[in-house]
Amino acid sequence: MFDLETDLRARKEAGLYRSRKTLETPQGPEVTVDGKRYLAFCSNDYLGLASHPEVSNSIASATQDYGTGGGASHLVVGHSRAHHQLEEELAEFTGRERVLLFSNGYMANLGVISALLGKEDAVFQDRLNHASLLDAGLLSGARFQRYLHNDVDNLEKRLARTQARRKLIVTDGVFSMDGDLAPMTELVATAEKHNAWLMVDDAHGFGCLGKQGGGVAEHFGLSQRQLPVLVGTLGKAFGTAGAFVAGSEALIETLIQFARTYIYTTSMPPAVAEASRTSLRLLQQENWRREKLTILIQQFRKGCEQLGLELMDSHSPIQPVMVGSAEAAVAMSEQLASMGILVTPIRPPTVPKGTSRLRITFSASHEEHHVQQLLDALDKSTHLLCEKSSRKQSFQEEVS
Ligand SMILES: *Cc1c(COP(=O)(O)O)cnc(C)c1O
Repeated sequence: MFDLETDLRARKEAGLYRSRKTLETPQGPEVTVDGKRYLAFCSNDYLGLASHPEVSNSIASATQDYGTGGGASHLVVGHSRAHHQLEEELAEFTGRERVLLFSNGYMANLGVISALLGKEDAVFQDRLNHASLLDAGLLSGARFQRYLHNDVDNLEKRLARTQARRKLIVTDGVFSMDGDLAPMTELVATAEKHNAWLMVDDAHGFGCLGKQGGGVAEHFGLSQRQLPVLVGTLGKAFGTAGAFVAGSEALIETLIQFARTYIYTTSMPPAVAEASRTSLRLLQQENWRREKLTILIQQFRKGCEQLGLELMDSHSPIQPVMVGSAEAAVAMSEQLASMGILVTPIRPPTVPKGTSRLRITFSASHEEHHVQQLLDALDKSTHLLCEKSSRKQSFQEEVS
């Protein structure tokens, strides 16, 4: 027998139980969840495009043109003109030879790494990489190593010891739970020195970083040769759904032939591709969205400093507030909810033990008075939780 109840109870007792809330409104600063109004700081809709009228209109009108479902896989009869045009526009946007669409980021990562690597190969991943990258590394059958977070020396040592045929270095561009950037310039140099390939999952960088929203590749000015495998997702700053891989003609053809998560699945609805084309245009044209984010982030960080809250080294819209224990993170999130503020606690196994945090995210649709409301609530909730000095101390004990 499977004793599922015992495992579930243990998870509850460890303060790690997760449950879903039901959202009743579009994404935005103010949402209704389970019948209650909240000011929300937890979506990845960084540019406020998930409920943008132009994006919504294009999905509606493309549904008239293409119908609803993708109908088949891309290699059968599911590859529509809308998909094709989006691929061409994303290739131009990223400055890569070609782009291939996937149904989502999880599948893009599984498909790419397992198509490129096998048993004779090795994959080197930052230990804080997204779960889909770690799973992809395991699925590929390649020798799998995790290097210390953003520690290029640690990576170098590992590369120097390997005898593998192909060597692939994989990193998040902007780390999803920390908000910090990968040291791309150093990683490019290391990859070149060891004859390795570099792959970046820039799920949180696209749209937010770079003058045109081109993510870490634009921010660091990385060519296709320096960064041969570039993954982006459409469900975050683009506000739609899906993902893409950008790279050389040979890379994309390899994926079409060998990426099983590309081949054996129905294409995304064509209207979603059409809506993503609208998002891509808005994301490039409307610089003010990125500028506004920068202002909100600065306001928040300054306010937290004044409150004595521990922030992380992040200038992205992901601004985690470090709490420490899972229980404290949950308690703090509940207190904020009682004040009408929605912020999610992030606990193990998503983050290492003792580093539970509130993952606060900002969107271009937030206003400065929203950020002030958040700061006021944080101020109250840290007082309720415990003294600030002892809170900081207990965090240090847990991570040491
Ligand atoms: C969200 C995310 C993914 C998964 O993308 P989906 O399109 O939501 O499946 C992959 N990698 C990172 C770093 C992410 O944050």
